[in-house]
Amino acid sequence: MAEFITKCPHCDAELQAQDEWNGMEVECPECNNKLVAEIPARLLKKDDSSSSVFFFPCPFCQENVKSNVEWIGRSASCPHCNSTIIVPNNQKVALRP
Ligand SMILES: [Zn+2]
Ligand SMILES: [Zn+2]
Repeated sequence: MAEFITKCPHCDAELQAQDEWNGMEVECPECNNKLVAEIPARLLKKDDSSSSVFFFPCPFCQENVKSNVEWIGRSASCPHCNSTIIVPNNQKVALRP
């Protein structure tokens, strides 16, 4: 079972997560806020088409939205609340150098 580090967007704590949690909502042990565990793109395999897929929380409904690196900066519509959202470049937010 692989693990990865994801960063809490609320308190910036770095959390250890299981790879099977990718895209799932978890509770931060530091601040008890909910966040979505995301495997950083650079840890994902590049040899299949899913490597460019990532998830980000919708700023309107906070639901997890599946996206693609090719869509970063473009507008998309949230499948959960139908709001128009700009796909953020959050590929690297989970890890610090
Ligand atoms: Zn936190
Ligand atoms: Zn939404």
